[in-house]
Formats: sequence, C-alpha cells, structure tokens
Amino acid sequence: MLMIKVDLISPMRCDKCRRPAVLFQRYSGLHLCRDHFIADFETRAKRTIRENRWVLPGDRIAVAFSGGKDSSALLIFLHTLLSKRRDVSLLSITIDEGIRGYRDPARARSFAGDLGVPHVTVSFQERYGTTVDGIVEKKGDALSCSYCGVLRRNLLNEAARDAGATRLALGFNLDDEAQTVLMNVLRGDSARLLRGTRPVPGMVPRIKPFLSIPEREVALYTYLQTGRIDTGRCPYSHNALRAEVRQMLNAYAWKHPATRFALVNLGQELAALGSASPGTVHTCTRCGEPCGTTCRSCEILDEVRDGA
Ligand code: SF4
Repeated sequence: MLMIKVDLISPMRCDKCRRPAVLFQRYSGLHLCRDHFIADFETRAKRTIRENRWVLPGDRIAVAFSGGKDSSALLIFLHTLLSKRRDVSLLSITIDEGIRGYRDPARARSFAGDLGVPHVTVSFQERYGTTVDGIVEKKGDALSCSYCGVLRRNLLNEAARDAGATRLALGFNLDDEAQTVLMNVLRGDSARLLRGTRPVPGMVPRIKPFLSIPEREVALYTYLQTGRIDTGRCPYSHNALRAEVRQMLNAYAWKHPATRFALVNLGQELAALGSASPGTVHTCTRCGEPCGTTCRSCEILDEVRDGA
C-alpha cells in the first residue's frame, strides 16, 4: 500500500479569513483555508446526520473501516463527533477479502487503536473458506467485483449485527453515490433504484454521513487530519463498471458541477418512492441472512466451490 505525503502550498487566500487556501470549491465558488475547510466539512456531515436522524441516544455505531481514505475520514469524523457522548458508542470493522498486497488489517487495527476505537477484523477465508484471490483463480477476474461486493456486504452486516451495532456507517461520498445511481440507470435496474430505506429484519441500518461531500474533499480531510494520503488500489478495480462510470461522470461533471448532487437527489427521491410501497424480504433457508428472492451470497459460494 503506497502512502504519499503532499505539501499544500497555495497562492490563493481563504475567502473567510485571508489565510492561505487549501481548497477551491467550484460549486460554492469559495476558497477555504485549513480550519475553515475542516469546519465546513464537519458541518455538512453533521447536517446530513441530523436531517436523516442517523445518530440517536443508545446507538452503537459500527464503522466499516477498510483503512482507505474514505473510511479513515469517517472514523476520525465520527470519533471527533461522538467520543464525548456517553449515550452512543463506536466500533470499527475491517473485512479482509484476501487480496494479496491490498488490505492490511493490522494497519487498520493500529489506526483504530490510536483513536481508542474498538476494532474487529473478519475475513472471507474464515467465514467463507475462500478469498477474492481464490475466487479469481477459479473464475477469472471479470466478475471479481460482483462477487466481492455481495460477499463483503453480507459479511459486514453479519459482523455489525454480531457486535450489537444499531447502525453501520459507510464512508460513501458524493462521487460514490452519484456513480451508484448512474450505474443503476445504465443497467436499467429499477429494483435497486426503487429500493427503499425501510428497516429490514436482520439488516443493520446503514448510514452515510459523507453523502453530500465530494471525494476529493474527503481525501483532503483525511490528509489534513493524518498528514498522509493512501493511494493503494485494489488490483481488480480496473474490472469494475464503476471505473468506467467514474471516468464518464468526472468528464461530464467538470463542465456541469451540479451533476453529482442532482444524481444523488434523484437516487434519494426514488428510494423514498420505493419506501412507500411494501417490499418483500425473505430469509435464506441456508445461511439465515435476509435477502430478496434468492440469496446471492449462497449462489456465489456454490459457484465458487463447485468451480461452475
Ligand atoms: Fe472487491 Fe472489486 Fe473493491 Fe477490489 S475493487 S475490493 S475486488 S469490490
């Protein structure tokens, strides 16, 4: 995993205090210095939490913590926000998918330990008896992200539930969310677009405090808080449809800066429509996890074990 150190030197001045700026926000037209950027960042994340009533007294919040820039920012932010509250607790969960040279659960544990946040690691190998590298060996790497995504989502939910979490916090940022909406549109996947936010028995409700914050600002927040930027990439990430959609959306949003916000709003409005109609949730007869019509995790594990 490559970590680089960056010097932030800017000839521009903060529009609020005239100190050197670390960021120009194209969508607000503001230059911001370190302190005003951090204040603006945290204010927006807190507003998202407040508007969605995502943190309530008695909550135990599990942060999905890969150790990358987004989840590091999330852990730091939630720790800053909640460490003085006695009525809310925090823990972090790292999923080790078994991708050689990519994840380092020991580093994640040490990062969480430095903050004093309890940490749990769960691995594909222990839970499923295989790893993403093992799946790629058997099935090739064309569908690595589809398999990995489904199994990781399930395992995260299981680990959060086992740890008694009432919420599962994800470091998804504005870019991730906008890409997800666009991917679902491109696939014509109306079921996912209309998937509501109603509580589902067995599923720990997910929260995404950085929903309205662009990826580069999340990276900058992590850098300003830790002095480092993690540039490690999964060796299979080039296969993801997401990589193509990211490129396309970045090019379009450069000319039309409000596009990502518009896509996220569209996703939220469709999810609200979906929440209004009753959905059907089944429980997998084999693994007991909540699922749609069939348990995709069990299907994947069958394929991988049988080598189909
Ligand atoms: Fe898994 Fe794909 Fe993400 Fe790699 S890029 S961690 S294979 S989902």
